[in-house]
Amino acid sequence: MADPTGFLKYDREEPKKKSKEERLATWGEVYADVEPGERDEQVRKQASRCMDCGIPFCHSSGSGCPLGNLIPEWNDLVRRGDWAAASDRLHATNNFPEFTGKLCPAPCEAGCVLSVSPLSGGPVAIKRVEQTIADQSWEAGYVQPQVSAVSSGQRVAVVGSGPAGLAAAQQLTRAGHEVTVYERDDRLGGLLRYGIPEFKMEKKVLDRRLAQLRKEGTKFVTGCEVGVDLTVEELREGYDAVVLAVGALRGRDDKTTPGRELSGIHLAMEHLVPANKYVEGDGPSPIDAAGKHVVIIGGGDTGADSYGTATRQGALSVTQLDQYPTPPSTRDDERSPWPTWPYILRTYPAHEEAGERKFAVAVTRFIGDDEGDVRAVELRQVRVVKDPETGQRMVTPVNDEVEELPADLVLLAIGFEGVEHMPLLDGLGLSLTKRGTLSCGSDWQTSSPGVFVCGDAHRGASLVVWAIAEGRSVASAVDAYLTGASDLPAPVHPTALPLAVV
Ligand SMILES: Cc1cc2nc3c(=O)[nH]c(=O)nc-3n(C[C@H](O)[C@H](O)[C@H](O)COP(=O)(O)OP(=O)(O)OC[C@H]3O[C@@H](n4cnc5c(N)ncnc54)[C@H](O)[C@@H]3O)c2cc1C
Ligand code: SF4
Repeated sequence: MADPTGFLKYDREEPKKKSKEERLATWGEVYADVEPGERDEQVRKQASRCMDCGIPFCHSSGSGCPLGNLIPEWNDLVRRGDWAAASDRLHATNNFPEFTGKLCPAPCEAGCVLSVSPLSGGPVAIKRVEQTIADQSWEAGYVQPQVSAVSSGQRVAVVGSGPAGLAAAQQLTRAGHEVTVYERDDRLGGLLRYGIPEFKMEKKVLDRRLAQLRKEGTKFVTGCEVGVDLTVEELREGYDAVVLAVGALRGRDDKTTPGRELSGIHLAMEHLVPANKYVEGDGPSPIDAAGKHVVIIGGGDTGADSYGTATRQGALSVTQLDQYPTPPSTRDDERSPWPTWPYILRTYPAHEEAGERKFAVAVTRFIGDDEGDVRAVELRQVRVVKDPETGQRMVTPVNDEVEELPADLVLLAIGFEGVEHMPLLDGLGLSLTKRGTLSCGSDWQTSSPGVFVCGDAHRGASLVVWAIAEGRSVASAVDAYLTGASDLPAPVHPTALPLAVV
């Protein structure tokens, strides 16, 4: 039973951030270090705000946590100071709570009953509680390798080492299967490694979890593109089942704006990957924002990561452009009523550090110098409307005013078009859907027998929490395929898509 007066005594309290100067001096995470005793006391108060609602919208995958995290249960355990039991409850539904605790946009908090009215002090800071349970779990040694007592003798290949592939691999290894994860990059982690910057999640957090997977028996092969370095025949011969967790990394380009061919214009990932490699110690990035005016096109999360990265590289200025108008600062009940994911202005730590954002604008031309390098972008104020017949979005200028913005580096963060075209898919006889994803039946199996799919490759570019949820679910399906039945949990069904934002 929760504390019935907790939410009356305490307001929502989010973790403190480091000062701007401290943040920009290193690539480290933006949140301040708090002494564990003080941290735990603050979080126990926060957990005591949970009302243990009869219908906890926070933990339903429809409106809240895709993993079905047992939020009211662990909130109460934290309130009582029983961190070991809270760790068990959290790990029962989430393989990697230290990733979601740092990276999840927390749809659970949008579904918290305390977010219905602004007078209630704000939703429980669920993500912070999750993060603290995860931190406590590692500090106290509750996280140990769980080595399977049985061996099925069945071999599974997981292609791709992002959160979906890692979750599937951990579940299947623990169920007694012999699992090998293949990754074409030189390091493991997918977008956790080379997309998401260090200031959002330090890579030592990922490496610590990978060490646990290795001790449990999961094998890893890096620098191996399946379909090329390991042929489809070898894959088929060597494994009883295959999980495709290859992501949706085909970046959307801007092929129509005049001047796109100028040098200095890049997809955001062409900037983020080498920047992350630099932080890993691989030497300077070929695309560096130091001393440059940087313009980022696209108002989403990837754009915000390019923004924080460019600031840390020493950009002269950083401007992020969004073609949509500034969203409201509070939930618009007509457009996105509680407990759905609200359409509101999202300000990331990177935005507080430097630079500016411009809304309801679009680039109509990239302007170059005599050397063929971009030197400016031409901007117009625009309105985005849906064509009533085709349903397509149309971007139209609202007046004749033209603004020129200096730009020595332009980063296109305008989304992803789906799974990359790769020899592996041809070899398996798989084609992509109109959304650029790989489809599957209700058992997560593609049209190629024994080949399963999960994560962004199935869902389209999404979130870490969905990748873990799909990885857990596909593991259950593969286990049933190999053994006839499975006790592994399956938090989501393959048809649970697509959902806007979450
Ligand atoms: C810049 C950026 C920031 C983001 N920030 C957040 C965030 O803060 N919070 C959040 O929840 N989500 C965030 N996301 C989204 C999140 O990272 C993804 O939804 C998630 O990583 C998807 O996991 P996945 O395992 O399906 O695929 P990925 O993480 O994309 O991993 C796929 C892996 O498969 C490998 N691969 C592909 N083909 C082959 C092959 N043939 N052989 C071997 N390996 C192969 C790739 O190299 C890659 O490592 C962000 C995304 C980006 C791009
Ligand atoms: S994983 Fe995300 S949605 Fe689930 S409890 Fe954690 S923060 Fe909330």
